[in-house]
Amino acid sequence: MLPRIVVAGNGQLGQMLQQAGAPMQLEVLPVAPTAEGEAPLTGSDIITVEVEHWPDTPRGLQLKQHPNFLNATALHSVIDRERQKSLLDRLNVPTSPWVSLGSEAEMAEQLASLGRPAIVKRRRGGYDGRGQWRWQPGEPALSDWAGECIAEALIPFSHEVSLIGARNRAGEKVFYPLTRNWHESGILRASIANLPVPAEQQREAESWLGRIMDDQNYVGVMAMECFVDEGRLLVNELAPRVHNSGHWTQAGADVSQFELHLRAVADLPLITPEVYGVTVMYNLLGRDWRPQWLGVTGTHVHWYAKDIRPGRKVGHVNIHRPDTPRLTESLTALREQVEPDDHAVFDWVLAQL
Ligand code: ATP
Ligand code: MG
Repeated sequence: MLPRIVVAGNGQLGQMLQQAGAPMQLEVLPVAPTAEGEAPLTGSDIITVEVEHWPDTPRGLQLKQHPNFLNATALHSVIDRERQKSLLDRLNVPTSPWVSLGSEAEMAEQLASLGRPAIVKRRRGGYDGRGQWRWQPGEPALSDWAGECIAEALIPFSHEVSLIGARNRAGEKVFYPLTRNWHESGILRASIANLPVPAEQQREAESWLGRIMDDQNYVGVMAMECFVDEGRLLVNELAPRVHNSGHWTQAGADVSQFELHLRAVADLPLITPEVYGVTVMYNLLGRDWRPQWLGVTGTHVHWYAKDIRPGRKVGHVNIHRPDTPRLTESLTALREQVEPDDHAVFDWVLAQL
């Protein structure tokens, strides 16, 4: 008998986990950790997450205190950026130089110690670039930052990549190839999967993420975002869950990151996903999709059924083809059908192929 998987969080990630369980009749129940009243949990449920933190309301605590709540250690390590950076340092995983900002009196010296422009990041609760500020040497620190933030050196990266991996209770680990990502204003605009990647980069990234997952005794999918600076990887941040930069796996791999997560948490066989062709994931930020897109070969729309608000992630489109020339054809056709202010996304992707 397969266990029921309860997902803390009922956004699009929970929805896509549910979709991945459906063909196996593996029941996946997303629950809002912030809703009123008790969640309908049973003792045999396995509790996993699609969000990293929520308030300690009665329901919030009910989820966290369930005997099968997974990865409490990793969540604790990751939800606070200071702890997350310390974890990377402790495990000798390269990351951008950083300092923890103390009192108002201390901040100026701490920022200056980085010796270059920095990004100040709120320790908790930021996502999609929220809770971040750019700081230039000589500028004053904002009093709001005191005791609440870390600052890290601004990395002049050539591009960004991410690694998605999974680990099961037996400690077996599997990984996808590094994905190339483009963020704008801190928000992921597009990912490309299965471009050629230097073998050494892939090997290093796998060894770091493997080390992190082992250290935290982690079960499930974890994502590791990296900068590539002069050909060398630096870890930006970790996400202890399925991740936007892994959405391409729905079209470009025989096991998606959502199925892989379910396999890991439900103790089903964990095998290295086979990746085929080339896949692009294009995020729909604050805009609707158009049925005519489905007329472009290789195009798959995932709509999250959320209200459209400016800049909000409301869906994504995977464009999958067997090879780069054919992907270029599809992208060129789709580019003409999207809103003109998204042409830049397609231009970035086409320039990478
Ligand atoms: P997510 O939605 O992925 O959780 P986030 O809001 O937690 O994002 P980060 O991943 O820390 O934020 O930063 C978002 C983006 O901002 C990065 O992908 C990168 O493009 C840029 N960025 C963050 N830190 C740095 C840095 N030290 N140097 C250069 N660019 C950075
Ligand atoms: Mg990020």
